[in-house]
Amino acid sequence: MEISMKGKVAAITGSTSGIGLGIAEMFAKAGADVAVNGFGKPEDIEREVTRLRGFGTRIEYFGHDLSIGAECQKMVHEIEEKLGSCDILINNAGIQHVEAIDTFPDDKWDKIIAVDLSSAFHTIKAAVPGMKAKGWGRIINIASAHGLVASPFKVAYVSAKHGMVGMTKCVALELAETAITCNVICPGFVKTPLVEGQIADQAKARGISEDRVIKEVILASQPTHRFVEVSEVAAYAMFLASDYAANITGAAQPIEGGWTAR
Ligand code: NAD
Repeated sequence: MEISMKGKVAAITGSTSGIGLGIAEMFAKAGADVAVNGFGKPEDIEREVTRLRGFGTRIEYFGHDLSIGAECQKMVHEIEEKLGSCDILINNAGIQHVEAIDTFPDDKWDKIIAVDLSSAFHTIKAAVPGMKAKGWGRIINIASAHGLVASPFKVAYVSAKHGMVGMTKCVALELAETAITCNVICPGFVKTPLVEGQIADQAKARGISEDRVIKEVILASQPTHRFVEVSEVAAYAMFLASDYAANITGAAQPIEGGWTAR
C-alpha cells in the first residue's frame, strides 16, 4: 500500500520537535506541503525547515503561540493564505506538568488546558469552513494513552487529553455526512524531549537512576516494555489522512504497547 500526499497541505502543530517533527517529515516525504508551527531556537527551526524542504515540497514555518485562541485561528488563516488551503490538520502541540493535585499550580492547569485542549478547538473551528468548501478534509488529534486512562500527578494533562478524545467524537459526528474525518491517536510513551524531561525529573524526585525510571516507572505501564517510535505514530497519522481511511471517523486509536488493554 503506497500513500501519496501530493497536492495536499498538512498543518501540523508542535512540529518543531518530537512526534510533530516526525509527522512533518513523513508527510513531506509523501509529497505534502507542510505548515510547521512550534517553538525552539531559531537556528534549530531553520535547520529542520531546510531539511524538510530537501524532500521537495513547500514547507512554511509559523511561530504562533497556541495557548492563545486568537493565535490558533490566525495560524490557520495564514496557512490558507500562504499555502492555499489547510487540507489536513494535525493537532499535536502539547505540554506536561507532573505534580500532586493539592499543590498543582493554577497557571500550569490553565496553560495545559489551553495548549493541549483548547488549541485544537480553535484550529478545528478555523479550518473546517475551508475543508467544507473544498469538500475534503482530515483532522487528526494527538492525545495520549492518558486520553483513555489516568495516572496520578497528571491532573491537567489527563483532563485535557480525555477532553480531546471527547472533542474528536463530537466533531466527527457533526461532519459525518461530509468527506471530512476527525480521529484521535493515543500514543503511549515516546522518547521525545517531553518525556526525556520527565525521566530526569522522576529520577531526581525518587533518588534513582534514569535507567531505573525508564524500566520501573515509564515502561512499566506498557506490556511490551518498549517505547513507541515516532515513526509508528506518524505512519498511523498518514493512514488516517489517506483515502483508505475515509470510513474511519470519531475513532480513538491507542498506540501504546498494550497499556490500555489491561
Ligand atoms: P515535544 O515537547 O517534543 O514537542 C511539543 C511541541 O509542541 C513542540 O514543537 C513545542 O514547540 C510545541 N508547543 C508547546 N507549547 C506550545 C505553544 N504554546 N504554542 C505552540 N506550540 C507549542 O513533545 P512530544 O513528545 O513530541 O509531544 C507531542 C504531542 O504528543 C503532545 O501533545 C503530547 O502530549 C503527545 N504525546 C506525547 C507522548 C510522549 O511519550 N512523548 C505520549 C503521548 C502523547
